[in-house]
Amino acid sequence: MATKGYPLYNMKKSQLRSELIDIYGVSEVLKVDAHVPLPVGVGSAHPNEGEGVISWDTLKSTLAECRKCRLCETRQNVVFGEGDPHAELMFIGEGPGADEDKSGRPFVGRAGQLLTKMIEAGMQYKRSEVFIANIVKCRPPDNREPFKDEVAECIGYLRTQIEHIKPKVIVCLGATAAEHLLNSGIKISNLRGKFQDYNGVKVMPTYHPAYLLRNESKKKDVWEDLKAVMKVLGKM
Ligand code: SF4
Repeated sequence: MATKGYPLYNMKKSQLRSELIDIYGVSEVLKVDAHVPLPVGVGSAHPNEGEGVISWDTLKSTLAECRKCRLCETRQNVVFGEGDPHAELMFIGEGPGADEDKSGRPFVGRAGQLLTKMIEAGMQYKRSEVFIANIVKCRPPDNREPFKDEVAECIGYLRTQIEHIKPKVIVCLGATAAEHLLNSGIKISNLRGKFQDYNGVKVMPTYHPAYLLRNESKKKDVWEDLKAVMKVLGKM
């Protein structure tokens, strides 16, 4: 059985293989490999990769072929996430929309453009310096919320990404992201603005940028949340 928090880095190779098969259920495509060098110019493997640790590239190729839930039937692209694989700051949304499904990149539509502004103009990071991902990696049809069974199949990928990236702070964008990452049933309006804990990583739940496009007055709340994050990261 998968253990809480997937402490992959402390496991022996045989233990790790069984854990990963449990998380992904895709033993036929999963290789538990030692360090896999990336092609020159395609970023770098994580410094913590080594014997018995699934590489970033293997995670990517596993995801690209994933057919664990029904969302694979309607997707155009799996949206792995993008940014710095060593980022100190990570953003997590709900799932890809139409633009993201088409491009294979997270947060590129109108809400994504607002998120980019929040990151670059507000927080003074380049978008490429943070890592942006979603709870599910394939688009739910008609932008519906992902179903619980879809999240259950997919969230192991996100947890493994977090294991690799080891961010100092995660910002959860919207109720779905906060609910599934933190296993919290608390309303986002009550949760936002208060740091939570995810295996020792500080998590700030806040409103989703798509919600802000419809509710301009909530932007000031989000800015307060992001300022609290910047303080933790020494940016203020
Ligand atoms: S949403 Fe996740 S679990 Fe479902 S097919 Fe896509 S990558 Fe696999």
